[in-house]
This record gives sequence, structure tokens and C-alpha cells, in this order.
Amino acid sequence: MAERTASDIISRARAAFIGLAVGDALGAPVEFMTRGEISEKYGVLEEMVGGGWLRLKPGQVTDDTDMSLAVSRAIVESGGWSLKAIAENFALWLRSKPVDVGDTCRRGIRNYMLKGVMESPPNEWDGGNGAVMRMLPVALCTVGDRALLEDYARQQAHLTHNHPLSDAACISFGAMMHLALIGRSRTRLREETDALIAAYPTFHFEPYKGLATGYVVDTMQTVFHTFFGTRSFEDCLVQTVNQGGDADTTGAIAGAVAGAYYGEAEIPARWVKRLDKKLVAELNYLAERLVRMAPLVKGSLD
Ligand code: MN
Ligand code: MN
Repeated sequence: MAERTASDIISRARAAFIGLAVGDALGAPVEFMTRGEISEKYGVLEEMVGGGWLRLKPGQVTDDTDMSLAVSRAIVESGGWSLKAIAENFALWLRSKPVDVGDTCRRGIRNYMLKGVMESPPNEWDGGNGAVMRMLPVALCTVGDRALLEDYARQQAHLTHNHPLSDAACISFGAMMHLALIGRSRTRLREETDALIAAYPTFHFEPYKGLATGYVVDTMQTVFHTFFGTRSFEDCLVQTVNQGGDADTTGAIAGAVAGAYYGEAEIPARWVKRLDKKLVAELNYLAERLVRMAPLVKGSLD
């Protein structure tokens, strides 16, 4: 590998996955709160406090991390892409009575369980962020191949969400991750975001409207606003979750981008310490296995 060593990409992949879990756990206690409610209760939320509408333990993750794990395990255990294995893992997860499940995700998974459906029909109400929040493993196992990313992104998304703006967000997030994983500049990542906005102007985020809802457009605007408007992993995540709304999901997506971009050393240890140790070990393991399957890294010896 010329430009970046495999070990650097693997390290950034681990940072992305830990970053996703950190953002999920940090934001989940303030999910569905407004900015005003958060500042009244916490000032600025900067710690893993637990609680919230799901009554979480400090550091506990939710569906964003769970579904990313389900996709990751399916790919790694199958030794390659298997939509059926992903659908099976979603079904397994739903049966495990998870702490939370989005309505659109539940509907898609139930359609698989009851009728074997692996492609939801196009639906104008499917513009939620549930497909993007579990895109990280798809980005990791396709580094170096944009066409493969687009194919897998649509397949996994359509298990539950079939909407052009969800698809566009999934692919754009994946492309940003590819760039961050190989150590590209903020300016280069911004070009990717600008390309999305050129194709779908609704994603325009300047000036920021301050909406951080579960609608995929609001979610991505929030992530773009906080990632491009801050200069550290910590600031990016703190700004993101303090917007409230779908704070665990915006936190998870921003955490993945910022994790890959800033790298493992920049993720505050006090946050990582709060996560379950077994979870951290599995995220690190899966991140490496996924990236080693990617076209850019496969066969590399370092
Ligand atoms: Mn969640
Ligand atoms: Mn959420």
C-alpha cells in the first residue's frame, strides 16, 4: 500500500467504531430533549451520565451501536458480504428485546421474519436515519471501492428503509468515512459533503437550522455542522449531543466520522472507560476484521 499503511487504516477504523459507541452512549441520555432542556439540566453535557427516557446506565449504548454490531458480525462471520446473514442478525437482535428499536427498523425486520422480505418497497415515510446509523461496517469493508460501497449501502439500507434521501445519506457518509480512514484532509471531506448538497440541496447546512431530529436530512445537517465547525473529537461530540433531538444517533454518526478523522489517541479516555470492556474489545476486533476485507487493504501484510 502506497499512500497509507494498513495499520494506520486499521487504527482509524477502530477509532471510528469506538467513536460511534461513545457518541451513542453520550447522546442517549438526552435523546428527545431540546437544547434548552439539556442546558437547564446539565449546563453543557460533557460526561456519560446515563438515565434519560431509556433509563440507561452511564456508558450504555443503544440500537445505533447494536445494529452496527449486527451488520459487522454478519459480514465477519460470513467471511464476506451476505445480506441474508445481516437480516438474520437483525432478527436475532429484535428477538433479544433490545433497549430501543426504531419503528421503521422494526417494520422492516418483521417483514423479513414473517415473509422473508429483504427489500422494503420505496416509501416516502422511510426518510429516517435508521439506515445511516448502521452504515459504518459497510464503509469499513469497502475502503478503496466506491461502487462496492454504493451497492452494499443500498442493499443494507433497503432491509428497512427505502428512500432516495436515506440512500444518498448512506452513500455520502460511507464516502466520507473512506476518505477519513485513509487520512484525507478536512477540505477533501468537505468536497464530498458539497457533492451531496449539489445533488440534493436539501442537505445544505449553512446556516444551521438547529434541527437534530430523526429525519435523515436533519441528522446529516447536524453532523456536517458539528464536524466541520469544530477542531477536535471532543468538541465535535459535545456540540452534537447538546443539540438534543435524536442525540444518540447524531452522536453515533458524528463519532464515527470524527473518530476516523482524528484517530484513536484523540478520543477522551474518560469516555472510553465508561463503555463495557467486552464491547470495546469486540468493536476493536470487528473494525480490524472488516477493514482487512476491504479492497484497499486485503492482502496487505503489515
Ligand atoms: Mn439509539
Ligand atoms: Mn436515536
